[in-house]
Amino acid sequence: MSQETYDLVVIGSGPGGYVAAIRAAQLGMRTACVEKDPTLGGTCLNVGCIPSKALLESSERFAAARLHSAEHGIKISGVELDLPTMLGRKDKVVKQLTGGVAGLFRKHKITWAKGLGTIVAPGKVEVRGETAQVLDTKRILIATGSVPATIPGVAFDGDRIGHSTHALAYPAVPGHLIVIGAGVIGLELGSVWARLGAKVTVLEYLPALLPMMDPDVSKVAAKVFAKQGLDIRLGVKVTGATRKGDAVDVTYTAPDGQTQTLTGDRVLVAVGRKPTTEGLGAEAVGVQLDRRGFIQVDAHYATAVPGIWAIGDVIPGPMLAHKAEEEGIAAVEHMAGLPGHVNYDAIPNIIYTHPEIASVGKTEPELKQAGVPFKKGSFPFLANARAKALGETDGLVKILAHAETDRVLGVHIIGPRAGDLIAEAAVAIEFSASAEDIARSVHAHPTLSEVVKEAALDAGGRVLNI
Ligand code: FAD
Repeated sequence: MSQETYDLVVIGSGPGGYVAAIRAAQLGMRTACVEKDPTLGGTCLNVGCIPSKALLESSERFAAARLHSAEHGIKISGVELDLPTMLGRKDKVVKQLTGGVAGLFRKHKITWAKGLGTIVAPGKVEVRGETAQVLDTKRILIATGSVPATIPGVAFDGDRIGHSTHALAYPAVPGHLIVIGAGVIGLELGSVWARLGAKVTVLEYLPALLPMMDPDVSKVAAKVFAKQGLDIRLGVKVTGATRKGDAVDVTYTAPDGQTQTLTGDRVLVAVGRKPTTEGLGAEAVGVQLDRRGFIQVDAHYATAVPGIWAIGDVIPGPMLAHKAEEEGIAAVEHMAGLPGHVNYDAIPNIIYTHPEIASVGKTEPELKQAGVPFKKGSFPFLANARAKALGETDGLVKILAHAETDRVLGVHIIGPRAGDLIAEAAVAIEFSASAEDIARSVHAHPTLSEVVKEAALDAGGRVLNI
């Protein structure tokens, strides 16, 4: 047992924890970060955002080479999948980035305490790894993230019935992949394997696709996914998944009440994630959890126990890497007496399918429900020169602005590079810009960003190119 005195011990090295540790070090705090996994970076870098985007990119290139080269006048024959190389490239990208975090820790003199962190008392974190030690600290920041959840009747078997981590490393393209849940993870990983040749059936409990997105965007998404061959069945309740040798029978109740069985060779359970508090000892020292297991914090990320804060997936709110990062920075800045702040109205949400889907701010139904008077403008990628040149014309940009003040309240995009285009909208909302501010800003030609400008012009009744 060794004793150290830190200003801050962060538990968990995901995007919330590692960024918080760096910010704390920048602010002069003696900082340690406890991580139980062999590499830094948490879910996002190891088994989340990064490997999924690497596979989305590779599988998209495969699909483009097979399906979309001829229209550009490029004849490619004999296109073959080399899955081990594709998976190896993904692993290499992950390794570079997790190694990068280790480098940042060295640069900022942050101690990486390897092992499971347990809060044994306020100001004391026991770390059990190859050796056991107790870290003495003035403050503790819990950033333990989340793990995949499942539903009754469907147990992970680590092989044929698995979660996103398994779907990032299937050793062969499944013949028939059954995805339970049409959320972000289900759609992204379903798309990867569909592009690589799997038949993909997606079973979704809710009666509508992507209900959190603006309906105009969800409608386009449903059409595009159907065109890509994703068989998405809505309003179905999965009741069980049973192994039959190398196959799995998935039973569900269809919207008409009938029980149906679907046989696939792999099942990806993508029904959401649950906060990680196992082994953390948080409750034993008085940290309070809500009924879904999330740690309860105040507006400054402080828990009920003085000296203990929590951020990221382990507290309520959208489970997003950039949300975790911003909370980590704000929490640490508060600890240092600075005015840390996260604007929850300006957090972009992106689905990296093809085309991408991105949104920030309120949807039309949300504004209606809140009784906020609004006007709207929209513009299709079909009428954009760059989208035509790319050959990617599916989708639109929709802007919602306050009816009286013209302040931008929500921006919703489905189309090429929507995930990059949404940044302008997030800045507009952060700076309380009006739709006219966007419309009068010069957007380079020919770029996809002109679709955002035209949608803003449309909100003011003066769209030009349609
Ligand atoms: P995490 O990243 O979950 O990190 C928590 C860390 O804490 C882990 O390393 C864990 O090992 C460690 N830990 C837990 N308990 C202890 C303990 N007691 N002691 C020591 N260490 C502990 N988000 C996006 O914004 N964009 C995306 O494109 C995106 N894609 C995703 C794709 C997939 C397949 C998945 C699964 C998730 C994706 N996410 C994405 C979500 C994103 O990964 C999470 O929102 C983000 O990682 C949360 O960060 P965090 O720091 O709160 O926790």
